[in-house]
Amino acid sequence: MTKYIRENQYLLSLIVVLFFSLTLLNIVFSLLGVFCLIIPFIMLALSKKNIWCKYYCPRSSVLMLFLSKISLRLKPPKWLISNAKNILIMYFGLNLFFAVMSTIMVSVGRIPPIDYVRFMIVFRVPFDLPQFVDLQTSPILLHFSYRIYSIMFSSTVIGLVLGFIYYPRTWCSVCPMKQALNYVKK
Ligand code: SF4
Repeated sequence: MTKYIRENQYLLSLIVVLFFSLTLLNIVFSLLGVFCLIIPFIMLALSKKNIWCKYYCPRSSVLMLFLSKISLRLKPPKWLISNAKNILIMYFGLNLFFAVMSTIMVSVGRIPPIDYVRFMIVFRVPFDLPQFVDLQTSPILLHFSYRIYSIMFSSTVIGLVLGFIYYPRTWCSVCPMKQALNYVKK
């Protein structure tokens, strides 16, 4: 059983590694992240249970795999978990809203595409992603791809930091996806 869980963890973690590697080839691959936003809800609708979190989530596998040996494993304070939970669900909703609305604005020519990564919506990261493959992407797709990447990047960084300081899967206590799934399940 332990062997099965570990093998599964390797496979699922590979999805995250593959995702971030592909975006170095071209940012348009970040659109694969949209599947990670949709598949949990499809699984929930089909099984009536949150099997995504239990068996399939690549992020929780990465957190366990990379952090289980190095995490400081401090106990997270209750105030942190409850505040972070509320902030992150708002952040996640707002972020998706901005991603869609700004893409619409780009498509009608009201704003130029934002072709760089932002941390938590507002902070431009101090590096550019190398783009090894030129796919001649349209400005609309380019903009939306960077926005999706920014969501995935921000949540992964926060998950890793929380997991390093506290328990490896602390992110799961505040995860907006789980909150949304629980809300839909009700
Ligand atoms: S709580 Fe979030 S990160 Fe954890 S398993 Fe569920 S979807 Fe994945």
